[in-house]
Amino acid sequence: MEFEPIKRYKCEECKDTYIVKEANGNIHTCWKCLQEGRLGQHSDKVPDSKIKI
Ligand SMILES: [Zn+2]
Repeated sequence: MEFEPIKRYKCEECKDTYIVKEANGNIHTCWKCLQEGRLGQHSDKVPDSKIKI
């Protein structure tokens, strides 16, 4: 049992939420998902107005 399964996300940055929270409390859309096109259509429907692009 040396191999310990780790939960894998498509994106480790945002854990597939497309939102990244920084240490200082700021949140923003995940750049990585944005670059890779995963945000798609819902980038204009952000749940929090503090999100900056
Ligand atoms: Zn991401």
